[in-house]
Amino acid sequence: MAHRITVIPGDGIGPEIMDATIRVLEATGVDFDWDYREAGLDAAEKYGSVLPEEVLDSVRKNKVAIKGPITTPRGGGFRSVNVALRKMLDLYACLRPAKSYPGVRSRYQNIDLVIVRENHEDLYGGVEFEKGDPAIQKIGELTEAAGMGRIRDDAGLSLKIISETGTTRVARFAFEYARKYGRRKVTAVAKDNILKFTDGLFFATARKVAGRYSDIEYQEVLVDNMAMQLVQKPENYDLLLLPNLYGDVLSDLCAGLIGGLGVAPGANLGDEIALFEPVHGSAPKYAGQNKVNPMALMLSGVMMLRHIGETQAADCVEGALAAVIAEGKSVTYDMKPSPDDPTAVGTSQVADAIIEKMG
Ligand code: NAD
Repeated sequence: MAHRITVIPGDGIGPEIMDATIRVLEATGVDFDWDYREAGLDAAEKYGSVLPEEVLDSVRKNKVAIKGPITTPRGGGFRSVNVALRKMLDLYACLRPAKSYPGVRSRYQNIDLVIVRENHEDLYGGVEFEKGDPAIQKIGELTEAAGMGRIRDDAGLSLKIISETGTTRVARFAFEYARKYGRRKVTAVAKDNILKFTDGLFFATARKVAGRYSDIEYQEVLVDNMAMQLVQKPENYDLLLLPNLYGDVLSDLCAGLIGGLGVAPGANLGDEIALFEPVHGSAPKYAGQNKVNPMALMLSGVMMLRHIGETQAADCVEGALAAVIAEGKSVTYDMKPSPDDPTAVGTSQVADAIIEKMG
């Protein structure tokens, strides 16, 4: 039976990298039944909403989705569609492998890390008060009464929320993933020396879950130390488990270790639903130019193939993609020695080269 999968091309560079990725996925011979849905800036013009209900219905029904990036205006404007999708579909774990392929231009070789980031809580929980909001004054009265000092009148406020429930399920996800994919060690990363009641709870909860997985090594590292360790000795780590904000920052650091955002894939997972998308955003300045690297979305597609049990097809796409990188010919500007290298090819030519290698 065909795999019915929701496709959300997104906006900016999304549609062109999605076209290239769909062509490569179809070249595997796996039977797909794509269910295309629009979200983001273009959907707002057509449907009056950046996240039409029918998009959510489609993902809920199909259980698997592949998505291009979606622009989030800075400061004002609508809240992030990406964050809304993760929340409304209860995709609580963000999975970001960072694996280097020979031939990629990077200061590091042989990187093979996996980041598991909690996706809903922490400072990204959406509990924020704008400067001048009377709620800040009320909270200030509470902090003053508790001996923690006043909050300045001209302050904005974002709350950091970490729960046992949220941490338990993402930690369980991390250990189950480690077991399934042969990872030997889980390193929880937070800063409990300062944030005793949030990051402290994160560590304590992860430690408790670790107790149920005696076959997998468990350790805890402070996030500032981890930033340095990853630059100096990335080979000491295997799977990193982090709260939302640190996970966001360190997954870009790990993308830097493996050659940049052009090759950094990701997935957002819940108990039933999986949504695959690259780490990078919509790079609006390159939209419609057939210029950017489609490999991060293609590698997200490889993760999707593994998730739906199409292991052979996943190996085939990954092998062909690795061969194209190793050859270094049919790659986009970001993988060339300089960004204005005239031999760089376009987005769709990368797909052509990969399909040829899949032969
Ligand atoms: P970005 O990832 O879109 O782009 C940053 C830079 O990285 C680009 O200018 C480009 O030089 C490079 N880059 C990104 N993707 C590339 C690719 N595939 N190939 C080659 N080079 C690539 O980050 P940004 O500029 O901070 O964000 C742009 C928009 O994307 C914002 O609105 C942001 O909110 C949104 N965003 C969306 C997602 C998502 O949809 N999940 C994720 C991150 C950012």
